Amino acid sequence: MRDSPLPYCAFTIDVEDWYQSTIDFNAPISERVVANMEQVLSVVYQHNTKATFFVQGRVAETYPKLLQRILAEGHEIQSHGYSHRPLNSMNRTELTTELHLARQTIYDACGVWPTAFRAPAFSITKNNLWP
Ligand SMILES: [Zn+2]
Repeated sequence: MRDSPLPYCAFTIDVEDWYQSTIDFNAPISERVVANMEQVLSVVYQHNTKATFFVQGRVAETYPKLLQRILAEGHEIQSHGYSHRPLNSMNRTELTTELHLARQTIYDACGVWPTAFRAPAFSITKNNLWP
């Protein structure tokens, strides 16, 4: 039973490098993601709240200390895929590789296996709901 009269609320953030995740999937992950996360973590801290961060695997392998910091500050880390390519642009083999790479790079960065996944760009559609 909770003590707080406040409603339950889930606060989630996608951790990705805007240019790489939106314009060029092959671009390097830039320090922009670290700078932006500094601001996000500062705001979350000021409001004394915790969040779930859906981290892209390429961010995890480029900036593992960022994931370690997120965990050290008491937040949850989950998977936002590896490359941020839309799932409906992949076949089953590519999707399996994408999801395994995301899980492994997050684990390698911070020692936590993600148990949840957020698809990039709302890319789960009726066309990729394979039986
Ligand atoms: Zn995203």
